[in-house]
Amino acid sequence: MNNIFNFNHLNNFDSILNIDLFIYSLILLSIGSFASSIIFRFSLNLKSDSKSISMVSPRSFCPKCKESIKLIHLTPLLGFLIQKGRCSSCKKNISIFYPITEISFLLYGLVVAFFYGFGVVFFFLLVLFFLFYILFFLDLKYYYLPISINLLLILCGFLGNIFLNIFVTDIAIFFGLSPFLFSLYGFLLGYMSLWFINFIFKFIRKKDGIGGGDFILFGAIGGLFGPFSLGLILFLGALCGCFIFIFFNNSFQDKIPLGSCLILGSFSYFFIKNFELLEKFLVI
Ligand SMILES: [Zn+2]
Repeated sequence: MNNIFNFNHLNNFDSILNIDLFIYSLILLSIGSFASSIIFRFSLNLKSDSKSISMVSPRSFCPKCKESIKLIHLTPLLGFLIQKGRCSSCKKNISIFYPITEISFLLYGLVVAFFYGFGVVFFFLLVLFFLFYILFFLDLKYYYLPISINLLLILCGFLGNIFLNIFVTDIAIFFGLSPFLFSLYGFLLGYMSLWFINFIFKFIRKKDGIGGGDFILFGAIGGLFGPFSLGLILFLGALCGCFIFIFFNNSFQDKIPLGSCLILGSFSYFFIKNFELLEKFLVI
């Protein structure tokens, strides 16, 4: 089976009815809405004064006045527009993050569907985006990478490569790596390389330099993109980190959200690999 980098692109919506496209769009908006509610619920659980909140209960409520949100106001995008961006009970502003997340999922989903069609590859890339999106914003804001989301990402990497061959590169085939070993070596190398960097840092500075969630996330990224991708992803992630440090230093305390940087590095890697941007200089 072809990997995603050799995918036979469809490049159109010709075979899809308008009504289907409309329904797919509504589903994408709803998934975006679900992602932002998960980010919100994880962030609440981080605050020590609130009791533990599951991902589905209690019903969604306004973070400011704690009033339950009416079903009609929960409708993606429409709810925000009907309420004109303000909570219907306390009239305080609703974060713009919610509609932006919904629109991001809609645009991402439509672009992916345009290139890959509405099939199993579409579904896989949507799940990946969902998991990465949650991790990216939780790490950016709270330096928090939940183990449950990290584990799902590891599972995705192994399943995607074993059953769809999705990111198994030609170089892996050249070395005779099976999809399972491709993911396994990627996971081990990703996890252990950051663990080792932290080990040396700890030896010298007597404190942790990298969070434990970052090891697992980099392992999960290795499980997805394989062992040969990790050097470039780490390099691109570090570049993003330098960029954040130089331009947004005031927004962060004394530390950089490494997990978010690694996720940006992974996306950049995918684009470089997919569009063969560094083909002349690098074998990845
Ligand atoms: Zn309110």
